[in-house]
Amino acid sequence: MRKKDLPDKIRVCGKDYKVRYSNGKLTYKEKNGKRCKGNLFGFHQGNKGVIGIRLKNINEYNEPYSNDEITNTILHESLHGLSHRFDLGLTERQVYCLGVGVQALFKDNPKIYNLLK
Ligand SMILES: [Zn+2]
Repeated sequence: MRKKDLPDKIRVCGKDYKVRYSNGKLTYKEKNGKRCKGNLFGFHQGNKGVIGIRLKNINEYNEPYSNDEITNTILHESLHGLSHRFDLGLTERQVYCLGVGVQALFKDNPKIYNLLK
């Protein structure tokens, strides 16, 4: 996926997020000031309006993630944004399942996605 095709901001029901992309490890500060880092695919910080997306695997090959993997991470972090926006308190598993499910729904039924255009 070409970086220029990726969104630099995402609007989640009226709340704008800046999107940070990284080819390496993602780090961010949690609400308590603790620095969070590790093998994250992405992160969502509702209080700062930032979403982070990692573009490459972290191993000796550093292979880029596929378009589907990057799209799924963007969807996943956007769903965290929806949960934050509507104070839903979705669990990680719920966000994961919704992300995978919505992506599959649109891929399996492109006419539904086209209705949004
Ligand atoms: Zn998550």
